[in-house]
Amino acid sequence: VTAGAPVLTLEGVSKSFGGLKAVDDMNLTVLGQEAHALVGPNGSGKTTVLNLISGVYPLSSGTVMLQESRINGLPADRITARGIARTFQNIRLCKEMTALENVMLGLHRHRRATFLGNMLGSPASRREQRDFEIRAMEALNFVGLSELALRPAVSLAHGQQRLVELARALVAEPTVLLLDEPAAGLNDTETANLLAVLNRLKSQGTTILLIEHDMALVTKLADRLTVLNFGRKIAQGSVEEVLKDPLVLEAFLGQ
Ligand code: ADP
Repeated sequence: VTAGAPVLTLEGVSKSFGGLKAVDDMNLTVLGQEAHALVGPNGSGKTTVLNLISGVYPLSSGTVMLQESRINGLPADRITARGIARTFQNIRLCKEMTALENVMLGLHRHRRATFLGNMLGSPASRREQRDFEIRAMEALNFVGLSELALRPAVSLAHGQQRLVELARALVAEPTVLLLDEPAAGLNDTETANLLAVLNRLKSQGTTILLIEHDMALVTKLADRLTVLNFGRKIAQGSVEEVLKDPLVLEAFLGQ
């Protein structure tokens, strides 16, 4: 991904739930290697935007492009396979599985061995399994959790579970990483650690679109911000520019 080139582009994207326009004619361009934050009051449409990009819901209108290809209309797993990975507001891990096994789930859509081959333990499927283990360990190592790889997810602290989820999103080396409130529920130490991991990711060239309420974290991570209110984009720019915009101040104060 080229730095500064459009990577993910939303054009005229709208989503209605019954009579409610949750997202209203949204235009958004995420540029290569940037960290782009979506902010706005509760109910302003931020999570819906991520759900539309990742294929959780169909769009009511508009298009979503990943580089040169249109991805809206594809099933969610195909969108993931095209290079969009995400984490969720509420951690979604298989609790009884180990951290390593959870991270390996992030590679399932990239399997080449056949179902039958797996059942019979063919050499090709064993090689693939081994390769997946190595890649998952590398991802866990990147987030600083390699020593906990064999622990059941349920036994890990909240902040560590978030990092496992992040590693699962990273393991397939996505073109764009979507993060839905990654710092939610983390204490100060965990938040500082998460910020360090995300900044390291960014410096390696990963493109990130995140929703985050913690403005201190946003300020230290995001290159640009888009502010939503009532499903509409009301401001966009650097953190400094956006935070002195009267429309933005009004949206937050009116909360
Ligand atoms: P935010 O993430 O900014 O808090 P959301 O995207 O979650 O906002 O929600 C935007 C609006 O859409 C809210 O009014 C919410 O109640 C509504 N909404 C979101 N998802 C659904 C859904 N699946 N069905 C009905 N209404 C929804």
